[in-house]
Amino acid sequence: MTLAAPRIANAPAAHFDIEPFHVTAHAELADFPLAAPGVCLNPMCSRHFAPTRSWQRYCCDTCRKMDEAEMRRIGQKAAPALLAWRMGKYEKQDDALRVLSRAGRNYITRLQSEWYSDRLSRRHRHA
Ligand SMILES: [Zn+2]
Repeated sequence: MTLAAPRIANAPAAHFDIEPFHVTAHAELADFPLAAPGVCLNPMCSRHFAPTRSWQRYCCDTCRKMDEAEMRRIGQKAAPALLAWRMGKYEKQDDALRVLSRAGRNYITRLQSEWYSDRLSRRHRHA
């Protein structure tokens, strides 16, 4: 016997009100952007370009799409660890949940450090 596939075609998408980071931290990013203005944020490119708009972070659509794909991959790696971390963040009783939460937190710390240093090393190679 097989289970029927869940009927998800008309299910509501995840909905919560938090805005993208670049919207929430607009003022902070204006004061300290992720890459210097006029330097392409795609670490594989990192070339200087003349922005046509003040908020332009990439020299071209190809670089934007390439970096957005990388960020999606990082988000997919981070998401289950973020859930695990949060699920047990305030847990006092269940040791297994606390251990899972700590594994999630440690994974996020390692992911951000390794991704950051990888981006820096690629940027330096191509800058
Ligand atoms: Zn570029």
